[in-house]
Amino acid sequence: MVDLNNLLRDNIRVLKPYSTARDEYQGEAEVYIDANENPFTKKYNRYPDPYQIELKKEISKVKKIAVENIFVGNGSDEIIDLAFRAFCKPGVDNVVALDPSYGMYQVSGGINDIQVKKVVLGKYFELDFEHIYSTIDTHTKIIFLCSPNNPTGNSFPIEKMEKLVQDFNGIVIIDEAYIDYCDQASMKQFVSKYNNLIVMQTLSKAYGMASLRLGVGLMHQQLIAIFNKIKPPYNISLAAQRAGIESLADNDIIQKEIKEIIAERERLRVELTAFKEVKQVYESQANFLLIKVDNANELYDYLLTHGIIVRNRHGQTNCDNSLRITIGTQDENQKLLEKLNEYYNAEDIVFG
Ligand SMILES: *Cc1c(COP(=O)(O)O)cnc(C)c1O
Repeated sequence: MVDLNNLLRDNIRVLKPYSTARDEYQGEAEVYIDANENPFTKKYNRYPDPYQIELKKEISKVKKIAVENIFVGNGSDEIIDLAFRAFCKPGVDNVVALDPSYGMYQVSGGINDIQVKKVVLGKYFELDFEHIYSTIDTHTKIIFLCSPNNPTGNSFPIEKMEKLVQDFNGIVIIDEAYIDYCDQASMKQFVSKYNNLIVMQTLSKAYGMASLRLGVGLMHQQLIAIFNKIKPPYNISLAAQRAGIESLADNDIIQKEIKEIIAERERLRVELTAFKEVKQVYESQANFLLIKVDNANELYDYLLTHGIIVRNRHGQTNCDNSLRITIGTQDENQKLLEKLNEYYNAEDIVFG
């Protein structure tokens, strides 16, 4: 177990949190004249539950984890930012993140004036854990691992990730935004065992709630207490809480969709590999495929002018001429394949 109190920034350790009207009184009353709200009954006139208990109960059922280990942020982005603010002293501390990986760790580090040390992935985006160990110094407070990784799609061995959590005297954040498409188990099984592990599972991707902004952080109760202390009191609106509860009721449909996306991913992999101009279709455990082509910028522009938007990752480390393609519906994937056919065959005519 890590001494979290020692790990905290000094100002956070001594912080006296804002006490909301709902913190000070939690029972049921007849008359609520404690929060300066509009007393005339409307849909949204009351402040929402700061701890989102009803929403967490539904998340608990779907994710099969205790309510006490669930934190909900205004998107995963808020959880990342809160972790920086809790543990990293601006201008002094640093964090470690993978390269290439999800861009928000770097941006959030920049906003908080925290150096983000990069561990570069290998040719096939494999991770040398020794490289993480040699990058850590006495001011390293957080290690971010994204598994399956965005934009590369591969996941990292769970035993090595657990070993890192055991060995590191700081916080390890495992971003599992794409875990629902992955055939490896989640790290969430370890959150009540280690008090320095945060597993992020956003509801933005497989669960189809990107516009609600619901990021889920699974963590030890000691970490939950720290996050609750520093979060904006009403960080999740009532509209988002209600819509989240409603959407989680569709879990059976969601699970079917996940299976369909995985099947489409494997179909698309085969189809894309058949183009001789597609040099590489990387292994993916997520709902996207990273591919390497001859000229990513040109293909990107071609697809764009034909109404198909993919993500151009050319310029990211080890991603020269690479495009990231999200798995769409069968129809959408078919349209992509048609346009690729047109593009490569038209080229054959011109240069043929
Ligand atoms: C999309 C994505 C997220 C989502 O973040 P939200 O703020 O919850 O929408 C988080 N992490 C990774 C790696 C992602 O790709």
